Amino acid sequence: MQKITANVYAETGFQGCNVGFVVTREGVVMIDTPQMPADAIKWRDEIAQYGPVRYLINTEPHGDHITGNYFFEGTVIAHEGTREAVLAASVAQLKERLRQTAPESLALVKNYRYRPPTITLSQRLTLYVGDHTFRLTHLPGHTPYQVAVYIPEERVVFTSDNIFYKVPSALREAVPYGWLDSLKQLQEMEADVLVPGHGELCDRSYLPQQSAIIQAWIDMVTTAMNQGMSLEEAQDKLPFIDPYTREGKNTPMGQQRQRLNVARLYQVLKK
Ligand SMILES: [Zn+2]
Repeated sequence: MQKITANVYAETGFQGCNVGFVVTREGVVMIDTPQMPADAIKWRDEIAQYGPVRYLINTEPHGDHITGNYFFEGTVIAHEGTREAVLAASVAQLKERLRQTAPESLALVKNYRYRPPTITLSQRLTLYVGDHTFRLTHLPGHTPYQVAVYIPEERVVFTSDNIFYKVPSALREAVPYGWLDSLKQLQEMEADVLVPGHGELCDRSYLPQQSAIIQAWIDMVTTAMNQGMSLEEAQDKLPFIDPYTREGKNTPMGQQRQRLNVARLYQVLKK
């Protein structure tokens, strides 16, 4: 765990997304939760020393951000699209995944239930807890439902998966032009530290690079479409352009990511 500022902590080492919390005079506000049950329990014990959890903010609908909600107290807040996704999530599927990947954790999810957000936002929400302000802004990008959490008193932003710091960017549910615009909005938030959804902590100097990656995807797929390339051809032929996709096309995972990213861009750029 890293102490980022006087009252903000983050962990970038769990499997799944980065998680963090802010210690206020009136309790703790968490941002996202660890995906793996054992990590969630470890995180819960760590946070307990700083006070009760008052609020838990999910920055997006994906399982690595929301699955751990179950292990924590506090009112869950997220975009209304994230609420829909959590309500639709299947406990049976979660248990099956754990059976395959981490069977030792099944005992920890015996009575598991998904905890959906009970406060939602569509555009903006400002939360005041103790002496802290939490400015939640809907910033579509990695999915249509991303939310950034800006804490001006600490000059920190939790950016959600709109930033993949030096790790492969996932575009399979992306809103590509919205993403570029959202990165501009992040640039305007007066923060010294950005906590990305994945990868190490960074600052605003990384934003142009993240934009360049998204723009390169848009340009590459637009060119392919203009040349009349079918989706299948594009999935087979287009080169890897993400500088952080180290495994390239040589692994099933790299190949799958490429195919999903291309398919999504075909779908949304056609319109
Ligand atoms: Zn995600």
